Amino acid sequence: MEYAALVSVYERLEATSGTHDKTDILAEALATAEEDTLGTLALLVRGKVFPNWDSTTLGVSSSLVTDAVVDATGVPADRIEDWWREAGDLGDAAAEAVREKSQATLASRTLTVASVHETLEELAGYEGSGSQDRKVKTVAGLVGSADPAEARWVVRTVLGAMRLGVGEGILRDAIAQAFLDGAADADAVERAYAVTNDAALVAETASREGLQALEALDLRVFRPIKPMLAGKADSMADAVSDLADDDGVALVETKYDGIRAKLHADGDGDVRMFTRRLEDVTAQFPDVIEATREAVAADRYILEAEVVGYDPETGEAVPFQELSRRIKRKRGVDAMAEEVPVTVHVFDCLLLGEDSLLAEPLRDRLDALDAVFDPIADRIERADHRRTADPEAAVSFYETVVASGHEGVMVKNLDASYQPGSRVGYQLKVKSTMEPLDLVVTRAKWSEGRKSDFLGRPYLACRDPDSGAFLEVGRMHTGFTDAQLEAFTDLVEPLIESVDGREADLRPEVVLEVEYEEIQSSPTYDSGYALRFPRLSEIRTDLGPADADTIGTVERLYDEQ
Ligand code: AMP
Repeated sequence: MEYAALVSVYERLEATSGTHDKTDILAEALATAEEDTLGTLALLVRGKVFPNWDSTTLGVSSSLVTDAVVDATGVPADRIEDWWREAGDLGDAAAEAVREKSQATLASRTLTVASVHETLEELAGYEGSGSQDRKVKTVAGLVGSADPAEARWVVRTVLGAMRLGVGEGILRDAIAQAFLDGAADADAVERAYAVTNDAALVAETASREGLQALEALDLRVFRPIKPMLAGKADSMADAVSDLADDDGVALVETKYDGIRAKLHADGDGDVRMFTRRLEDVTAQFPDVIEATREAVAADRYILEAEVVGYDPETGEAVPFQELSRRIKRKRGVDAMAEEVPVTVHVFDCLLLGEDSLLAEPLRDRLDALDAVFDPIADRIERADHRRTADPEAAVSFYETVVASGHEGVMVKNLDASYQPGSRVGYQLKVKSTMEPLDLVVTRAKWSEGRKSDFLGRPYLACRDPDSGAFLEVGRMHTGFTDAQLEAFTDLVEPLIESVDGREADLRPEVVLEVEYEEIQSSPTYDSGYALRFPRLSEIRTDLGPADADTIGTVERLYDEQ
């Protein structure tokens, strides 16, 4: 398939606003794709190069793209930046630059969907010294072979900013429409996607083998899926009664504040750790890997756990910020493991041996875990828990948990299957403090005076799950230490989309955990709400924009206060 054909799909999607029409366009493109490009197409239509379970990123910033467009077209950077500022989109600016150049020369080769995809896969693998230059050359190679429209979409793809409004739901419906019985099979596609986390595999299986094969797709070791999420309980009594089994019993478990870990094992000793964002952090946590290997008497499994760091002097839990240093550390890993040692608290088992346990009740998943798990004190333990039907017993467990410094408890339904990526109400958290919000940064401003190189004062936005848009709820004016300001700048600088004076529009990717005094209704922000005195609790590098709190949560908290 020529890349130009995909570009025309993108352009039709862009020109259409209705969900049904977008689904039709996408279904037609999938149905008519050649077999060997179908999987790639299912990824690229959503601007993805890799399936979701693979956390590899391209590591391409706007300034790298600008360099590449200069390289490919000979148009000076300041003109590209002018166009970028005018159009608000670097893809559009790249199209202009190519248009200008192509009046002089013609593109030398035809881009295909497969060649663009392969090139981007390769680019993601460039590491170490000289890798930035190689990336510039590679993107320049693509832009240099593109016509203006192709250049626009190549650039949007490498920046991960498609602006097409094609979410997982539209892709799901389009796959069902293209290869199965339409809406009647949308649930089967959704399930297959949830358990594989791989749009390419789902589209290919639906097309080649049909419904039965799709229904047979399941969880696989080393292909991590989205975690099951928890809602917030109104009260302990409600949580216990909402989540009770036939005997009225619910599981009440300590809610630890650390890194959610997915521990995958296959074969003799090959154990890997993935974060909630599915990043492979095996190399950074040799202690977790070793403890898991020793504690679990099985070869193949997938466990879920919270990894909590503690201070070796005092034995007290350290804040997430301190622990997250371990994720970033690529060298001196052993010293770091001594500086911030961890305890692994295991709370679920999704696969054991040949059996996926996703559809099994939590009770059976935990029985399966207990049969092979032998805790090692302080290194790897079961999450502390009680099974109870008595809300008072649950409250007294909660009080002990909070008194020993944890943020609260999780209450879980023992009859519930595992629902990847969804907040279906099988788990509820009961926390002691006013709930902080996880919000996405949409804009930031360069600071004044001695810190003028640093970006701060972020605008914060919640997520609208229906449209995929980010709706602003306020702006943080204070609360950054110098170190946080520096870390924040490093994170957001590569995400700058356009600049107006000292303010920068950002690709919505960075998530901050934010505390505040109160939520007010407000015409100032497009969410209709404003946080009063928002302040930074933590930069949540473990969360992505899809993990941000929704407008529904903001509304609920507003009503509750
Ligand atoms: P929150 O981030 O407040 O929505 O809480 C959900 C997170 O709590 C999960 O993603 C886990 O990382 C964490 N967590 C801590 N302890 C547990 C537990 N016992 N069971 C499930 N999740 C837990």
